[in-house]
Amino acid sequence: MTTNPTPLISPVASSKHPGGAPANVACAISKLGGKSAFIGKVGDDEFGHMLVDILKKNGVNSEGVCYDPHARTALAFVTLKKNGEREFMFYRNPSADMLLKESELNMGLLKQAKVFHYGSISLISEPCRSAHLTAMKAAREAGILLSYDPNVRLPLWPSSNAARDGIKSIWKDADFIKVSDDEVAFLTQGDPEKEDVVLSLWHDRLKLLVVTDGEKGCRYFAKGFKGRVPGFSVKAVDTTGAGDAFVGSFLLSVAKDTSIFDKEEKLREALAFANACGAICTTQKGAIPALPSTSDALALVKS
Ligand code: ADP
Repeated sequence: MTTNPTPLISPVASSKHPGGAPANVACAISKLGGKSAFIGKVGDDEFGHMLVDILKKNGVNSEGVCYDPHARTALAFVTLKKNGEREFMFYRNPSADMLLKESELNMGLLKQAKVFHYGSISLISEPCRSAHLTAMKAAREAGILLSYDPNVRLPLWPSSNAARDGIKSIWKDADFIKVSDDEVAFLTQGDPEKEDVVLSLWHDRLKLLVVTDGEKGCRYFAKGFKGRVPGFSVKAVDTTGAGDAFVGSFLLSVAKDTSIFDKEEKLREALAFANACGAICTTQKGAIPALPSTSDALALVKS
């Protein structure tokens, strides 16, 4: 007689999704009808080709992507909790993106941009740190607006202090910064609900600081005015990419009309639209597949 042995490994539901913050932002812009391009490096492997394919399918210019024949594409393992919140683990050994060199930057493509958006991960080590700083300098010299989302993913940094120092080293170069409430708490080691804590992050060059706070929406701090734009109530199943959908939508509004930094009414309209984009992105699994169209986001704003 045989018995059914208890399995040693219980099955875990998992699925494979291309993404990563900068790719998500580029796809968000494109899906909303804007023009975007991605500069970076992937491995010449299944995951690298999968990412480039999804960029192309979403209409993102991928001429700035190069392939590393020896390194693997970066992988993130995202664990979803019941409320759609996430925990991250990463494969970076080092991964191809960390090996992007200055000489591999597609400067022609970069200089066509109205807005150059970047994160922090490439600051962690060389050679991508130098490539990152060179790209920022070139963008600045070409008069392009700089947009920064620190996207703090602590497991990637050697320590919390290294993360804070790395982020603060490029913080002062940005014209626009989007941070989450959690990131404000991490960067300032203070209470993000307190305005003076948030404002301790302000710097002279900055035109706008936006603090996102999940379903509550966002707060904004501009030169001369500040306020809150409430979020939308949706059934969230996966919050991956919500911040990127928010940023992509907002950057498209900026590219269309930079006066939004000075005109509060226009700014609030753009932030409400960005909140709708972030909210819609939480209603499906994955980041890129969940990015909204303009009509879906407008429908939610008007609901
Ligand atoms: P990040 O993804 O960068 O951590 P947030 O979680 O604050 O940023 O999400 C960015 C934006 O997406 C929020 O400001 C909000 O507009 C929207 N959003 C995120 N989570 C939800 C949610 N559960 N319900 C509705 N909107 C959400």
